[in-house]
Amino acid sequence: MSKLVLLLSLACAAGAEPFPYRATVVAIEDLTPAIKRVRFRLEDGLRFKPGQYVFLKLPDDYVVQWNERFGTSHQEVFRPYSFASSASRLPWFDLMIEHAPAPPGEDVPPGVASTYVHQSLREGDVLRFSAPAGGALSFKKDTRRPIVAIAERAGAAPFVSLLEYWFENQWERNQPIYLFLSDPLLDARFREWERTRKTFHYYPVSGPVRDLSAVPRDAEAYVAGSPAMIREVARMLKVRGIPEERIHYDGAAAPSGAARLTASSVASMSAALWAKEIEHCLAASGKK
Ligand SMILES: Cc1cc2nc3c(=O)[nH]c(=O)nc-3n(C[C@H](O)[C@H](O)[C@H](O)COP(=O)(O)OP(=O)(O)OC[C@H]3O[C@@H](n4cnc5c(N)ncnc54)[C@H](O)[C@@H]3O)c2cc1C
Repeated sequence: MSKLVLLLSLACAAGAEPFPYRATVVAIEDLTPAIKRVRFRLEDGLRFKPGQYVFLKLPDDYVVQWNERFGTSHQEVFRPYSFASSASRLPWFDLMIEHAPAPPGEDVPPGVASTYVHQSLREGDVLRFSAPAGGALSFKKDTRRPIVAIAERAGAAPFVSLLEYWFENQWERNQPIYLFLSDPLLDARFREWERTRKTFHYYPVSGPVRDLSAVPRDAEAYVAGSPAMIREVARMLKVRGIPEERIHYDGAAAPSGAARLTASSVASMSAALWAKEIEHCLAASGKK
């Protein structure tokens, strides 16, 4: 059991609220037709490390209306989103949220949380959040290895946070950083960083990342995107010569598809494990 899950279990047993933090929406911006950047102002004392994520809880009345509209039976709805700004900007922080439409040809509702953010969230709304979690994507500073970050669309969120933070501290001087971004967003900002930071290399592509020939073979690699994208990129990185222990990812994806517990795969389980623990906590408090 991870330290965080253990802490939540203890807090839960003591009757603590699984979504203790509140933040007010101060701005909503379209980064692409499918991705919004939402800027929040924190109302309480949350702290996070770049590369971490947080569970956003949907308002209960929205969930009730959703269930009536689509005949679903959601109870508490919460989803993990990566911080997309440097921790130094607190009490302000950004999330980048991509709309999840219904899969083509399937008669099912669109994604509940991302539809809420895209269609109903307004400036001035106050949302609740869990404590921050994760950290598998936090760039390793002690190895001195080149850093390779590979993301698709909103998967860039944790890398925006990490890059901002690293550039503030000028840590890229010791370790070059390579960013591969599929269907890029914030392109002007990454190009500006490439112009001003000598050791930052930016590779935007439209469609999937297929060419990793610029990846140094001694790199430490970080991947963020859909489970399918993570699996494919991990496979390509291994072909390039990067061993599994130097490939890091967060979320529910398991690149090898195996039950082998590497450091990365343990970290990758944390979002699902933690979500389960929040469910237990809600059940214990009679909210589910
Ligand atoms: C660690 C981590 C960090 C993340 N960070 C980000 C981030 O920074 N930005 C971001 O945009 N996302 C991020 N995600 C993904 C995010 O947490 C959500 O999974 C995503 O927003 C979709 O949630 P949703 O509630 O909108 O969709 P859901 O309601 O969970 O639905 C998902 C999909 O299933 C379909 N569906 C609905 N009902 C059915 C059914 N009955 N049968 C089949 N299909 C169905 C929906 O149409 C939709 O396409 C992250 C995930 C993880 C694990």
